[in-house]
Amino acid sequence: MPQPHEPRVALPTYGRNLLRTLPASVFENPIVLTQPEPWALACGAFPNDRTQVHHVATMEHSRVQEVTSAFGGGSAVFGIGGGSALDHAKFTAWKTGLPLVLVPSILSVDAAYTKAIGIREGSRVRYVGAMYPDHFLVDYDILQAAEPVLNRAGVGDILSIFTALWDWREAGARLGEPYDQGIADDSKALLERMFEGAVEIGNCTEAGLHLLSELYVGEVRLCEMVGNARPEEGSEHYVAYCLEHRTQRHYLHGALVGMGVLLAGAYQGQDIAPVAAFLRNVQLDSSYQAVGTNRNEVRDCLLAMGDYVVHESQLLPGVFHFRNGISSQEVEAVMAAAGLGE
Ligand SMILES: [Zn+2]
Repeated sequence: MPQPHEPRVALPTYGRNLLRTLPASVFENPIVLTQPEPWALACGAFPNDRTQVHHVATMEHSRVQEVTSAFGGGSAVFGIGGGSALDHAKFTAWKTGLPLVLVPSILSVDAAYTKAIGIREGSRVRYVGAMYPDHFLVDYDILQAAEPVLNRAGVGDILSIFTALWDWREAGARLGEPYDQGIADDSKALLERMFEGAVEIGNCTEAGLHLLSELYVGEVRLCEMVGNARPEEGSEHYVAYCLEHRTQRHYLHGALVGMGVLLAGAYQGQDIAPVAAFLRNVQLDSSYQAVGTNRNEVRDCLLAMGDYVVHESQLLPGVFHFRNGISSQEVEAVMAAAGLGE
């Protein structure tokens, strides 16, 4: 295994009214990729006669390229909003070489923290290029204006450490896959910090939002060191992907992953009581109903997991690979343990 290296990670500035703290040069002729609600909060900081604004509706590759080409020259590219606005801004900055300013309006996505640029080609997500922001603002005024559930849902991609680490360790033991105990321990420490901060995160206080953001920074750093998503992505995400694939619906990612952690964790044979307690404390409802699915769909999804992970050959091995599928009795037992409703 190559030695882990100290990776470059986007580091946020924290506070309120942070756009006012940026150098005047970026506001000379700014390009802004945004969405209506966050733009209403941020637009006062921009010169309205010299700002090019685009409201991002799609991340379809051809359209993103077209929008990027249509901008005149600019002084900087701003991404202000959720995942699509941030990814679009990263793409436009990557293509134009202009300075990049990222201002997430919710913490339920990690687009501001990762260098990869996610674009869509039909139903597939592809990652192109690599961009780090010149300024990365975690502004509590903007985050606290969002619906709380859209920040709380940010816990999903940290909570997934719970099941991802089990998969990774087992893949090391069973398949000889490189497993780094130090990185696994550091990952586990992030999970424990999040468990301790559940109430603050759930209430979207400054302390809670700061903690969630720092956990993302830590997690992206660990994944960069390993060179893949082993420290944070495993069978819980595979359940989520399979359900999305089967139902062709979109879900709030963090709530869906929370459901996946309970189900995959139970199947792994882990004690999932701390995860259930955390989800209660952080006020993120991951029941079938709240996620937007139902018991039958989830049961059929679990029964299909064995075939699904074989078919999706890019997925790194996890519990559904190791056991060659799951019997209907096991599905009933896992669903009873997860306690996600009828
Ligand atoms: Zn995720």
